[in-house]
Amino acid sequence: MKILRPGVDLDTFFAEVRGAPRRGLLLDYDGTLAPFADDRMAAWPYPGVRELLRRLIQAGGSRVVIVSGRPVSDVLHLLRLQVGCEIWGVHGWERLRDDGSDASMRPAPEQRDALRKAQALVPAALRGALEEKSASLALHWRGTTPDARQRLEQQMRPAWSALAQREGLELHGFDGGLELRIPGRDKGLAVRTIAEELGPGGALAYLGDDLTDEDAFRAMRGHGLGVLVREALRPTEADCWIVPPEELLAFLERWLHSLPPA
Ligand SMILES: [Mg+2]
Repeated sequence: MKILRPGVDLDTFFAEVRGAPRRGLLLDYDGTLAPFADDRMAAWPYPGVRELLRRLIQAGGSRVVIVSGRPVSDVLHLLRLQVGCEIWGVHGWERLRDDGSDASMRPAPEQRDALRKAQALVPAALRGALEEKSASLALHWRGTTPDARQRLEQQMRPAWSALAQREGLELHGFDGGLELRIPGRDKGLAVRTIAEELGPGGALAYLGDDLTDEDAFRAMRGHGLGVLVREALRPTEADCWIVPPEELLAFLERWLHSLPPA
């Protein structure tokens, strides 16, 4: 564990968690709760994570919220918690509440049309690397050779970049590919929404690994602790850095033990 910002202190933070009227624990999925896998539908959580999340949810006293770039359905499939959990998917476009109700947003028809145009630009030979989501298109290259990855990127980045400019979409790199997103929502929106719902004095932590989590870390300023979860440190807006899985499990345990008795 390494503190990245002056003035940040974990003992003080967890004392605030203990004393807070309401708490929110926000967690990215891939790279944070689960190691990467070449088959993205086989990126199961680190051993111990599922059980800890269940205990955290069942303990009450804090909202446990998964915030992912994946569709909510993927996260449900991979996490298999068997207890209600709030999940934000597709960078803030989809939202499943912990009572099972759906609070997702639908992009406008013209925005969906722009994504269809982007899809049409992808050669048939690359379609297998493409993932269609409700508000984005992702091109995945995890598990390919560095050469194949470079070819994919050289082939698609210029075309998608030009289309993004024309159609008002956003092109983002992520750890494992390229994603063309409909603007207006990101992981920072999830943070701001939960912070507002928790109200004054709410204690909040956000754990994430990827570039898309930086929106969330920025939104966390003044609301709580941003935690970069990653094998190697990189430039970040997070307040501290932990290495998964041991330090992740320790953080979740510490959160659990900071909850008031039910
Ligand atoms: Mg991630």
